[in-house]
This record gives sequence, C-alpha cells and structure tokens, in this order.
Amino acid sequence: YQIKRSGRNGVRRFDAALDEELERTTLLTREFQSALPRGQLSMMYQPIYHLESGELCKVEALLRWTHPEFGAISPSTFIPMAEASGQIMPVGGWVLEQACMQAWRWHQDHGWDGTVTVNVSPVQFAQPNFVDEVRQALLLSGLPARRLELELTEGAVMQHPALVQAALHGLRRLGAEITIDDFGTGYSSLAYLRDLPIGCIKIDRSFIEDLASPRRAPQYAVALITAIVSIARTLDLQVVAEGIETQAQLEAVRGFGCDFAQGYFLARPIEAQRLSELLDSARPGAQPTPSQQLN
Ligand code: C2E
Ligand code: MG
Ligand code: MG
Ligand code: MG
Repeated sequence: YQIKRSGRNGVRRFDAALDEELERTTLLTREFQSALPRGQLSMMYQPIYHLESGELCKVEALLRWTHPEFGAISPSTFIPMAEASGQIMPVGGWVLEQACMQAWRWHQDHGWDGTVTVNVSPVQFAQPNFVDEVRQALLLSGLPARRLELELTEGAVMQHPALVQAALHGLRRLGAEITIDDFGTGYSSLAYLRDLPIGCIKIDRSFIEDLASPRRAPQYAVALITAIVSIARTLDLQVVAEGIETQAQLEAVRGFGCDFAQGYFLARPIEAQRLSELLDSARPGAQPTPSQQLN
C-alpha cells in the first residue's frame, strides 16, 4: 500500500512539473510572437578565425532575445518554440536581412571581405520560397552571395531530404555557401556529404570538449576529429572547429589540420559595433588583436 501511495504521489509531482513546463512554454511562445515588433530581438556576432593566417574570415550571426521581464532567454529555448509556432519564418527572414546588411556595412566601412554565416532552421528550409527569401535579403543588403553561408544541422538535412536538396541547389546557383553545423552528432548517413552541394563542416563542440575532458577518453576525440578532417580533405570541404575554450584546444585543432577556429578563447559573440572596433584594430600597425593569439 505504501509503495502504491508513493507511486501515486510520484506521478502527481511529475504531472505538476509537466504542467509548469507546459505553462512556461505556452507563455514564452506567446511572448515570442511580439518579440520582433517590440524590438526585443537583436543579433550578436562571433568571429571565426582562419588558423593559418590568423585572419577574421567569417562571422557567425547569433540571435538574441531579451524579454523586459524575464531577461535574456537562450536560443536553445526559444528557437524550438519559434519553430513549433511558425514564428521562425518571419524571424528567420529578419535574421537573414540583419546579417546580410551588417556584413555589407563591415565591408563598406572597414573593407572587410569575410563571410557572414547564418543559422537556418529545418522549418525555414522546408518552405518552398526559402531560396527567394535569401535572394531578397542579398538584394536588399547589396551583399554578394559568395559572402553568405547558411548553417544547417545534419538533422535538418535528414528531416526533409528532397526539399533540402532542392533548396541547397537553389542556394548554390545563387552563389551562397552551405555549412553543416554541429557535425558528427546527427546520427546521419555520410552519403549526403557526397551528394549535396556542401562547402564546409563545423565539428561539433562536444568533440572539442572531449579533448580536454578527464571523464572521457581524449584519444577517442582525437581519432574522431582526425577522421572528420580526413573525410573533409577527401571531399574538398572546409573544416571549422567550434567551441575552442583553451590554448591547448586551439593548438590541438591546428595540429589536426582544421582550417578555421571559433570559440570563447578567441572571441565571444559580440555586438556589431564591437566587431567593427575589432576590424579596425586588426588593421596593420594597430594594437594587437585576439586573432594574433593564433600565431
Ligand atoms: P550553434 O549554431 O552551434 O552556435 C554556436 C553556439 O555556441 C552559440 O550559442 C555560441 O554562443 C556558443 N559558443 C561559441 N563559442 C563557444 C565556446 O567556446 N564554448 C561554449 N560553451 N559555447 C560557445 P547560442 O548563441 O546560445 O546559440 C545556440 C544555438 O541556437 C545555435 O547553435 C543555433 O543552433 C541556434 N541559433 C542561434 N541563433 C539562431 C538563428 O538566428 N536562427 C536559428 N535557426 N538558430 C539559431
Ligand atoms: Mg551555427
Ligand atoms: Mg554549432
Ligand atoms: Mg551547437
């Protein structure tokens, strides 16, 4: 009888927690509907450095939501909600425009000729007019297509193979590049790397983390990263190592032959204005920059 009772209580507690979670999701989803018109969304930009030259070659655009009452809410929380509610469509379009306009401004004001990378949700990719939306953002901003890279996860590729294939070829015709984000975590087939027009892969942060983890055998991470780089070389893909938090990780991924590195050790996501300052200071004769840690 006692076991039964505690079991029932357990169920009730679980239900209560679930209710709370559901309530929070419903509330945040509703609040997110008006986040864009209320000016609560903003972009941050994180530098990606070329390992050989130390140059700031790419910048990843990352969306931020600051709610007046709840404060900063993580994209890992609100992106899935926005995907479920359909809000990701207008918001994703806005992100694309912001990122393209900003990248072109950095070109005009600071002579930067790098690439901006934009995360794209599978829900956006599955829209038949997605390629048109990208074309519009490029036209509106003036950014040449080759300066835009779209980041897609393996899961997205697997979720809608036919739609994604059509969209990827459309994007390639435009001249934009495609990166596979969080590579190695998607439980997907490798064949798509061969069959789809992909230019770059980003090794997932968890592999980089394992390099320094005492809990997991670092030799596995070494073997996996080495294998990923080898596949990339064979297929003529660029490789980015993300989540670099220490000098040791930086040296390690350089040793493995990765092309680019991104992470808190090099630079955190920053506001557009601060990235402008970084671009100015990176000019010859200026103060040392974080990118010089690379050499
Ligand atoms: P992601 O595309 O893999 O982006 C990298 C995430 O890792 C970012 O988190 C970034 O701030 C974080 N990061 C960068 N360097 C380091 C590091 O050295 N250590 C650690 N621990 N983290 C690092 P963020 O900005 O919270 O974004 C989380 C995810 O939300 C992104 O993962 C992406 O999947 C999604 N996301 C962000 N912005 C957008 C967007 O505009 N559209 C869509 N669809 N998704 C987005
Ligand atoms: Mg990304
Ligand atoms: Mg990633
Ligand atoms: Mg990630």
